[in-house]
Amino acid sequence: MNNISENAFCSGCGVCSAVCPKNCISTEENARGELRAKVNPDICVSCGKCKSVCPSFNGVVPDNRNETVYLGVAPDFEKNGSSGGVATYFINALLESKTVDFAVLVQPQNDSDELFSYTICKTKDDLKKCQGSAYYPVTLEKVLRDMNSIDGTFAVIGVPCFINALKNLKALSDVWDKKIKFLIGIVCGHTPNKHLVDCLAYKSGHNRADITSCRFRIKDTGRPAWDYGVRLSFSDGEQFSSFGSDDFGFLFWRRLFIGDCCLNCSDVFAENADITFMDAWLPEYKEKPEGASLIVCRNEELKSLLSPLVEDGSLKETKSEDIHTAQEKLVAYKQNAGKHGKDKKLAEEIQKVFSLNKGKKDIVERLRRVVYKQNLKRKNPLLWLLVETKDRLKR
Ligand SMILES: Cc1cc2nc3c(=O)[nH]c(=O)nc-3n(C[C@H](O)[C@H](O)[C@H](O)COP(=O)(O)OP(=O)(O)OC[C@H]3O[C@@H](n4cnc5c(N)ncnc54)[C@H](O)[C@@H]3O)c2cc1C
Ligand code: SF4
Ligand code: SF4
Ligand code: SF4
Repeated sequence: MNNISENAFCSGCGVCSAVCPKNCISTEENARGELRAKVNPDICVSCGKCKSVCPSFNGVVPDNRNETVYLGVAPDFEKNGSSGGVATYFINALLESKTVDFAVLVQPQNDSDELFSYTICKTKDDLKKCQGSAYYPVTLEKVLRDMNSIDGTFAVIGVPCFINALKNLKALSDVWDKKIKFLIGIVCGHTPNKHLVDCLAYKSGHNRADITSCRFRIKDTGRPAWDYGVRLSFSDGEQFSSFGSDDFGFLFWRRLFIGDCCLNCSDVFAENADITFMDAWLPEYKEKPEGASLIVCRNEELKSLLSPLVEDGSLKETKSEDIHTAQEKLVAYKQNAGKHGKDKKLAEEIQKVFSLNKGKKDIVERLRRVVYKQNLKRKNPLLWLLVETKDRLKR
């Protein structure tokens, strides 16, 4: 079949839908809480255009560009930024200098089925509403349609696989190449499926339909930067927060809700982006509550937009080893892309238990037990058999 319907590594980016001449691709949530491209086979004419932009079928070899690495914060954007707020400072500078007409960012929404989505921004206030990280599936499908109907130039932010899809789109079409002037990357460990948020809602005695808003990367002045949180608000006025050192960290950092696309992803630094932002997980920053950014700039024209921060001392040029030190664990993980059989198995087990325990308040404890048993099975199979038999007898 000459289309993307059986793409096991689909990340739901939605870029294929922008090139389909028959408009027969939509991005939909599947049973695992992931967004996936779906083709209507009755309309598809097997032209293969979707495959030509899909990053799963076409790895893009990055141009060999000079990199400058920066480290620091953007004072005006730091408080609500995931890291040091420099991504938002930079996008604001792109707009204020009229380097682009619009910026395409991910914004929190008050829709319980779509808690975050891509949106077109024009002002500093628009940008500030988008600060933080959406550890949640999003797609470019709808925003690409909106961009298509607007005259002007755009900068688009995205995780590495989205950047690669957009780079393919630019290579395929002169119109899109002119429209999308800059690609802004963010380093990405993985994007969990929507069941992570569902679990936190159940844990607090709510369901997905009760969620009115979700914010990741809440900073707490009493906690180090790495111990960031998530906050859910519900229609009954209640709020629920969880931090990295507790349930949220257990669900997110153990990659319990990881999908096949992320298990096979090897792009750490969004190599095809003009500039990439990430956390400065360096000893001198990660224990402080404020957080800081590391930036890899691969475009000479864009460097000048960061100069005011360099001049006032908020940002400094640093050595490229810093990005490797900061992302050491992620680099090691992505070097083994496609070989994470244990994580894949665990994610499958978690999915089964999640499906059986939807709505249960003690769901996180149940998932902790799955993880405990998986570890035990590896380390002490006999003891695992005993625990497993006891559990089965209880059921
Ligand atoms: C799914 C995911 C996984 C990540 N994993 C890592 C990691 O392992 N290591 C690391 O160092 N950094 C990671 N990051 C990046 C990090 O969380 C920050 O986004 C980055 O450092 C920029 O912070 P800032 O304070 O400069 O930006 P802010 O001022 O907070 O602005 C953040 C910008 O990112 C955009 N954004 C948020 N979520 C998404 C999304 N899902 N897709 C596209 N754009 C989005 C917002 O629209 C906003 O423009 C991840 C981000 C995401 C979304
Ligand atoms: S093969 Fe062509 S018509 Fe079919 S889904 Fe892909 S782009 Fe659309
Ligand atoms: S282009 Fe994006 S949405 Fe379409 S199949 Fe590929 S990864 Fe999935
Ligand atoms: S880990 Fe890779 S495949 Fe997964 S969302 Fe991030 S960039 Fe995309």
